Amino acid sequence: VTTNEGWNLDNSYQRLPGIFYSRVQPTPVDDPEIVMFNRELATELGLDAESMEDSADLFSGNRLPEGGLPIAQAYAGHQFGHFTMLGDGRAVLLGEHITPDGQRADIQLKGSGMTPYSRGGDGRAALGPMLREYLISEAMYGLKIPTNRSLAVVTTGESVEREVAFPGAILTRVANSHLRVGTFQYARQWGEKEDLQKLADYAIDRHYPEIKNDENKYLSFLKAVIKNQAALIANWQLVGFIHGVMNTDNVTISGETIDYGPCAFMDTYDKRTVFSSIDVRGRYAYGNQPDIGGWDLSRFAEAILILLDDDEDKALEAAQDVIKEYLHLYEKNWLAGMRKKLGLFDEEEEDLALIQRLLDLMEQHQADFTNTFRSLTLDQFDKTVRLFQANGFDKWYDKWQARLARQNETTDQARQLMKENNPSIIPRNYLVEEALEKAVSEEDYSVMEKLLKALSNPYAYSEEQEEYAVLPPKPDEPYQTFCGT
Ligand code: AMP
Ligand code: MG
Ligand code: MG
Repeated sequence: VTTNEGWNLDNSYQRLPGIFYSRVQPTPVDDPEIVMFNRELATELGLDAESMEDSADLFSGNRLPEGGLPIAQAYAGHQFGHFTMLGDGRAVLLGEHITPDGQRADIQLKGSGMTPYSRGGDGRAALGPMLREYLISEAMYGLKIPTNRSLAVVTTGESVEREVAFPGAILTRVANSHLRVGTFQYARQWGEKEDLQKLADYAIDRHYPEIKNDENKYLSFLKAVIKNQAALIANWQLVGFIHGVMNTDNVTISGETIDYGPCAFMDTYDKRTVFSSIDVRGRYAYGNQPDIGGWDLSRFAEAILILLDDDEDKALEAAQDVIKEYLHLYEKNWLAGMRKKLGLFDEEEEDLALIQRLLDLMEQHQADFTNTFRSLTLDQFDKTVRLFQANGFDKWYDKWQARLARQNETTDQARQLMKENNPSIIPRNYLVEEALEKAVSEEDYSVMEKLLKALSNPYAYSEEQEEYAVLPPKPDEPYQTFCGT
């Protein structure tokens, strides 16, 4: 039944065994006020944007949407390699909205108060990090990378105590689902085989219905998740996105990017780039992301191993064969994406070497990742940039031009392909900081709104975007991010 606001909520997660969730209510807040509302997303979901845009009570959890039965979800995860029990410690799933075209979308509040899984946490969130998640998740959507979306941010009128006090906030997050590798680890560790099987069947129904009747559907399930994650992580590498905390509880079954805590985009191309303050060993560095993805997926395979075959050895062998495919799939996606970034429509044996040579030059001359591809796309080279002064670059450029000339497509077609695959702008760290600072300190959201608008189509190569393509001033200290607090 569709309500006034357009809600059409189901609560299918609660048809799973009870171990997977706890019924909770969001904790009411003092004085909620909407500071961000994603009209476009609301409309896409079939919600009545107009009737909601002043509904701070709704997006704060002070009033529940009709048909929603809030829960916190249980899950586990390997955090920096160590297995632990987790769960939604500060989030509640309000319900699953069924859009007019039949898509199911989780509607979740983040920062809505304590749950049985809060451990030592207060269940709350600060405004800065919630705005950051809103901004970067929407930027990822603009980049055409699978991601959860952000529908609204409210301030709560309360403060949250961290090192100092910050204004409190709640984010409304929209996701294909919040099923994680960690959800399956939880089922394996604390559930019966039957619970695990029910969870797998649920995930298949929801995300991979096409494999439902496969002979070994759980093996197909493993393959499907691996395929989507390989594609996702390749997408990240291709735009210089560093997730920052690829723990198994932050790896989705749907293949969407989730958990925008310490993530950030790389400026200078360097595989060792790490932004997260707690990642002291660089476990989740840019260049490690593909391998770490494989590690996380191995944990997934282990979690569902008992579903793959009654014979333990056969199950293990089958799982290993699938896991082995992950890196190949990743590399295939990455190479295909890199070809597009260079305007290549067909394949030649030497393409990988051509790409690798460019990356080596970028690394050697500390070139900006995004702007190098932007320059290639525009065929405009700022001669004050070290890379473009280098002899090696001229040689590489000639090789690349010769390669382009060998394909059937015209220069214009190649340029078009490059425009579609090389963002002209990304949410650079200094731009994000500037926007958040204005919003949090001065309650001025105009900088953030303007940046969001520019990032909604990063492939536009429009004049308005040019100011955002400017490189950051060289910081005295390396940029650091912090886990969503
Ligand atoms: P994350 O690092 O964002 O993946 O979060 C790891 C776990 O900590 C998740 O179970 C979160 O729900 C939980 N968590 C993070 N911050 C808080 C908080 N302020 N209060 C309660 N739980 C939290
Ligand atoms: Mg998380
Ligand atoms: Mg987080």
